[in-house]
Amino acid sequence: MMLALTSCEEVPAFGAEADGVTAAMLEAAGSDEANWIMHGRTYSEQRYSPLSRIDTGNVGELGLAWFADMDTARGQEATPLVIDGKLYLTTAWSKVKAFDAASGAPLWEYDPQVPGETGVKVCCDVVNRGLASWGNSLFLGTLDGRLVSLDRDTGEVEWETVTVDQSMAYSITGAPRVIDGKVLIGNGGAEFGVRGYIAAYDAADGSELWRFYTVPDGTEGEDAPAHLKAAADTWNLEVLRGSDAIGGGGTVWDSMAYDPELDLLYFGVGNGSPWNRAYRSPGADGTGEGDNLYLSSIVAVRPDTGEYVWHYQTTPGETWDYTATQHIILADMEIDGEERQVLMQAPKNGFFYVLDRATGEFISAEEYIPQNWAEGIDENGRPIFNPQTRIDVTGEAALVMPGPLGGHNWHPMAYHPGEGLVYIPAFEAATVYDPEDDWKPDRARGFNVGFNLGAGDLPPDLGIRREVYGTVKGKLMAWDPVAQEARWEVEFPGPWNGGLLATGGGLVFQGNSGSEFAAYDAADGEKLWSFAAQTGIVAPPITYAVDGEQYIAVLAGWGGAYAISADGHLVNDQGPVRNVSRLLVFKLGADGELPAERELVSLPLDPPPSRSDAQTIALGKVKYARYCAVCHAPAAVGSTVLPDLRRSGTLGNARSWMAVVHDGILKDNGMASFSQSLSREEMEAIRAYVIQRANEDKALETEQIARR
Ligand code: CA
Repeated sequence: MMLALTSCEEVPAFGAEADGVTAAMLEAAGSDEANWIMHGRTYSEQRYSPLSRIDTGNVGELGLAWFADMDTARGQEATPLVIDGKLYLTTAWSKVKAFDAASGAPLWEYDPQVPGETGVKVCCDVVNRGLASWGNSLFLGTLDGRLVSLDRDTGEVEWETVTVDQSMAYSITGAPRVIDGKVLIGNGGAEFGVRGYIAAYDAADGSELWRFYTVPDGTEGEDAPAHLKAAADTWNLEVLRGSDAIGGGGTVWDSMAYDPELDLLYFGVGNGSPWNRAYRSPGADGTGEGDNLYLSSIVAVRPDTGEYVWHYQTTPGETWDYTATQHIILADMEIDGEERQVLMQAPKNGFFYVLDRATGEFISAEEYIPQNWAEGIDENGRPIFNPQTRIDVTGEAALVMPGPLGGHNWHPMAYHPGEGLVYIPAFEAATVYDPEDDWKPDRARGFNVGFNLGAGDLPPDLGIRREVYGTVKGKLMAWDPVAQEARWEVEFPGPWNGGLLATGGGLVFQGNSGSEFAAYDAADGEKLWSFAAQTGIVAPPITYAVDGEQYIAVLAGWGGAYAISADGHLVNDQGPVRNVSRLLVFKLGADGELPAERELVSLPLDPPPSRSDAQTIALGKVKYARYCAVCHAPAAVGSTVLPDLRRSGTLGNARSWMAVVHDGILKDNGMASFSQSLSREEMEAIRAYVIQRANEDKALETEQIARR
């Protein structure tokens, strides 16, 4: 199989040459057992390590070797890299830290000083998912859109390049990849009205080599790239042009993979901007059937030039935030008696896809979780839409499954070549999509999705809230990509569980929202070991070896899209999920212990009385849903990650409220001014709404405290 060399002699030793990480090393990363030198471990992104010292027989002896506390309490989504006994990771706010991988001794840190106000430009927490390596450098994408080259030994900046228009709500949370001296990075922001692209930069000096836009800007002339001319027929170009253009979305914010033999770079493309397709399709009258290329697509290009080769669109037109930015895995397998080079993805839309990665040909797709937007996928790989879920056509609200969190989000899967199984961190969560009346784009602030994000707000009734949260489930699924069915699955009380690692020891490792880090038998899903992590875990584990000793590492810490939009007390039935941001490293026979768990203190709700009129509160509810809910949770219920506004000290004081929301005095903490988007009257209406909500929930609080 071409994706993993089998002879160790073909793997050059690190440190043996001044060149550092080379193209040969990256291509042979699969057989370099000790190290983890790129994001998905190999270009095939299988997240499978052949290390087998820790196995199904001895995993019970796994213990804490060392840990390191992070200096933020925001979401932790990174995959660390390990090169020659040193571990490098990124943490929230795009900071980087280096450690001795065996002892945990800190080596260096780097803080790109991302302006705090960047926090309001991101949909899904101030996370970062990792680094790329090349030569003696590491590459980092920062939340505010810079690409930075760091000296791997010292953490000193070698160069930095601004990759986006920073006046817009672009952000970078994904890990760069490197192919033969070209650093590849995309960006996010499709909820905020940007136009997505991926670009390549010279690893030597950061100069841009090519840029591939995923959606047209509506002004494509004769010399436009062929792929954009082809896409132009599938859009209402009017809305993509000019100063109040809607951007189109299609951001490339996470997944990439590379096949060195085919010389194809694959990447996943995100959702439309706005979500509601009625504003994007030809005619924009709700009747258009424009596919809006290349939204929700997997695209293959030449890494040298960015030249388009093929694409496959998972959700033509897309109106539910069904990104195809989810993890892409490459593998070779026998299907119908034929050896196939496949590409696999479980995008948000709930179907597991197997494509021919040489040609983009559709091989198969099956539901991996229940969904109701499609009646099936036809033989050409095109979905048959369920008309009842086409809210862009009907203009009526509908309960659609999956919701915008998807059946699977960014959390990496893993593929075990011996078992022939793909492990999927999946979940079930439906959402009410309610087209917003009189929607207008606002590229300055707030969610630009064309739906009323308050439509699914739960009533102030703890019983109903618990019942609804109880329907949101997480699953670890072992998926057979040939048979297109689950071999086994483990169910969790809450969604948003961690990314995955599969090993040659027959194990699958995963953290979860129940504040546990666990090992399962890769063959049958039996839980063989677990560790009480004191925090929800969403990041994927890695494994590496130093001096023959195998280690398992995971960056713990609750956060990301679901964590900041859910009531942290109701995520599961095990009490509030908290964020303790900490790298945990395990080895056999170790007996390290974590410091005692801190009490999660939350003061009783004590809001001022609600005296505003119903009309003001109603206005506040609408504005809250569009501008506040994504960070402070729908209906202001409060997550355990970001400030719970019902408890804000400014609630009773209109002037201090205005100092924050209008004047932006907390911008360095991530709360920028909303004066470009909201009038003072609207800001005051939001305060009235939050006061009302706090008073409603105060009545529930006694019951909730009693439950703890
Ligand atoms: Ca999105």
